[in-house]
Formats: sequence, structure tokens, C-alpha cells
Amino acid sequence: MKIFINGKECEARQNQTVLQAARENGVYIPSLCYHPKTGQAGKCRVCVVEIEGMRGLQTACTVPIKENMKVTTNSETVRKAQRLVVDLLLSSGKHDCLSCEQNGCCELQDAAYMLGIEHPSFTLGDCKTEVDNSSEFIYREHAKCIQCGRCISGCNNTVVNEVLDFGMRGHDTQVICDINVPMGKSSCVQCGECSQLCPTGSIIDKKTRGRGRQWQLSKVNTTCAYCGVGCQLTLHVDSAANKIVQVTGREVVPNDGMLCVKGRYAYEFPSHESRLKYPMIKKNGEHVRVSWDEALDYTANRIREIVQKDGPDVFSAFGSGRITNENNYAIQKFTRAVIGTNNVDHCART
Ligand code: SF4
Ligand code: SF4
Ligand code: SF4
Repeated sequence: MKIFINGKECEARQNQTVLQAARENGVYIPSLCYHPKTGQAGKCRVCVVEIEGMRGLQTACTVPIKENMKVTTNSETVRKAQRLVVDLLLSSGKHDCLSCEQNGCCELQDAAYMLGIEHPSFTLGDCKTEVDNSSEFIYREHAKCIQCGRCISGCNNTVVNEVLDFGMRGHDTQVICDINVPMGKSSCVQCGECSQLCPTGSIIDKKTRGRGRQWQLSKVNTTCAYCGVGCQLTLHVDSAANKIVQVTGREVVPNDGMLCVKGRYAYEFPSHESRLKYPMIKKNGEHVRVSWDEALDYTANRIREIVQKDGPDVFSAFGSGRITNENNYAIQKFTRAVIGTNNVDHCART
């Protein structure tokens, strides 16, 4: 389907919204409440655009595209409206970016930067100052919440834990857990979906606080090592210290960004001091470090000696739900084709 954005012809797909089509065509429309996973929200009103033939400004995240639609995202009217909304959001919270963990990867900050807002223009009275530090892994600061609802949608519809909702009314509206109890005392399972979806620094991973700005961390995409689901994740690594300081889920199959509490927060083990980092062989009662060549030769020779002496059925191999299908395939192939026994089992079989 053909549409025109700021006078330029763009390709778009049936059933896309104006915002989705613009994003796919590399046109930035500031938006805060829309996320591909949580879908249309139409709450924040930041993504307003002009559409030929439609009265007033329209929210790009809710209007479906039509053939030959003409959209303007950068007129003075549009910018003025976007600026006002972002200005009001900044003014109604405590947005001290210098000390905020989200500085440099905050969608509200990106919108303010793009719209040239240097300081909030309004004084809207006292904002909420409470923080919720009760959860083991998640830190919440209500004053940075822009009430976009992405965390609520993620918790209720994506991971279906149904912990979060909006509570109170008007100026006092805020995201609450269960019947407004601290997160650490709620039914939250600490999956971290809400912190991953939050566009600001209102819900953040506690363990990551103060451990490096996002632009200082290198990103490594990998597969979670904890179970056989094979969730895709990104490690955020402090290269100087050679330490992982955060894990986020990648929005691809099989997990679509979701992770369990272990996959998201139990990431110290690769740099734990008692981790086995090199091969060792027991010599004269003591484990000593050896090269991979020596360790593999030793293991192959011992297997050969044992199988030649007592036959292949004294050998058995165990695969694991924590390794890849390819590794499990190689284990059973080696056992059957090289050793000559069907003694193969798997920890996830029952
Ligand atoms: S949430 Fe965003 S805009 Fe607010 S203080 Fe943090 S970085 Fe700045
Ligand atoms: S951590 Fe998971 S369960 Fe807890 S509030 Fe956030 S999304 Fe819901
Ligand atoms: S806590 Fe974050 S995700 Fe949730 S409503 Fe507030 S700004 Fe949006």
C-alpha cells in the first residue's frame, strides 16, 4: 500500500497504523504509550499528526493507514502540540535526568530532545516523591511515571501475572500492585517484564542501578543457559570489569522479550570465583590445571580403555534440558554411533 509521509511516497502494509508505517519507513514520531508488544494505547497523545481530510490532530498510534493517505508529522501545528504534551509530562514529574538510571535510554528524554525542550515550562505543584524499594529486583519511583500503562498491559496481558493496575484517581493516580501493597509484598513474581517495557526510569532493575550508563555497556546477544526453552537475551556488559550488569529479553522467538526471574536477574555465575574456567585432571589426589588437548586425550583414552575391557554397555550418557538440541543430538549420536550403546537418557525426560 502506498501512503505519503511529509510529502514522500512510502510503502506500508495493510492493517498498519500510521505510527507503525512511519517507523518502518524511518520517520520518527515521538510516542510513549505505544509498544509493539502492548499494542495501541492512545493514552499519551504525544504521537499526534495531521492527516489530510481528517479534522484536527490525530494520534498516529490509533489511526489505520489507507491507500494514498497523506500524513504530516513535522508541521509547526504538530510540533507545538507534541511539545505541549511532553512539556506537561516533564512538568508533572521529577525528571532529574542527570541522576536517573534511564538517562540515555529514556523515551521521554528522546522526545524532549527531539522537540527541543530544555526545561519544563510549568510548575504543577508537588509531585509524588515515594519510591518502592521493597522488591528484591525492581525499584519503582512514582515521580517518573507518565501513566502510559505499558507496564500494566505487559504484566496483565503478556506475562499474565495480573499484579499491576492504576489505582486512585486524578492527580493521585499511580501504578499500584495488587490492592496497593508494596511490590515486595505483592503477588509479583519478579519477571521484570514491567521494567523492560517502562519507557522512563519509573520501573528499573535494582541490580543495575549505578553500575554503568547504557552507552558505556557493550551488548552481547545470546541464549539463556538456565533451561531448554532457549530464551533469547541481551547481556549488558561492563567490558572494563568484564562483568554482566544487566540482562534484557530480546523481542524475538521463543520468548518475545519475556524472561523468568533467573534468566533476567541471576547473571553473576559467569564471573563467580568458584566457577570452573579451565579443564582439570586429578593427579596424585589433586586437581591440576591442564590444557584442553591433554584433558580431551585423557578422557578419550579412559573411555576407550573401559569400553574395550567391559563392553559398550558399561557406558551411558546423559543429555540435559539446559543445553541446545544440537548438543543433545551430538551426545546421543556419539553414544550410539561411536561407543555402540543405546544407554542415553535426559534429565528432562520425566
Ligand atoms: S525518566 Fe527519563 S526524562 Fe525522567 S529523569 Fe529519567 S531519563 Fe530523565
Ligand atoms: S515483575 Fe513481572 S509479575 Fe511483577 S509486576 Fe512486573 S510484570 Fe508483573
Ligand atoms: S511505570 Fe512506566 S510503564 Fe508503567 S505506567 Fe508509569 S511510565 Fe508507563
